[in-house]
Amino acid sequence: MKREIHPKYMVAQVSCACGNAFVTRATVPEIRVEICSNCHPFFTGRQKLVDTERRVERFEQRYARFREQEKARQEKSSQGS
Ligand SMILES: [Zn+2]
Repeated sequence: MKREIHPKYMVAQVSCACGNAFVTRATVPEIRVEICSNCHPFFTGRQKLVDTERRVERFEQRYARFREQEKARQEKSSQGS
């Protein structure tokens, strides 16, 4: 190996947003992750979307409003006929 071009390889503490923590080896002593093998839907089998920006929630709110409008329109047209 060439000297002084290799980063230090050390034991790293990995901590996940779900609370899980484990040790691995890396070039930094600490790693923070948002998802790990303990909480990823692939491993848990649960359908849980990791929605940090609340995009799903916002879409559902918008879509609920659209459905309300659609319902109102249908009621109006059925009254007319
Ligand atoms: Zn996790």
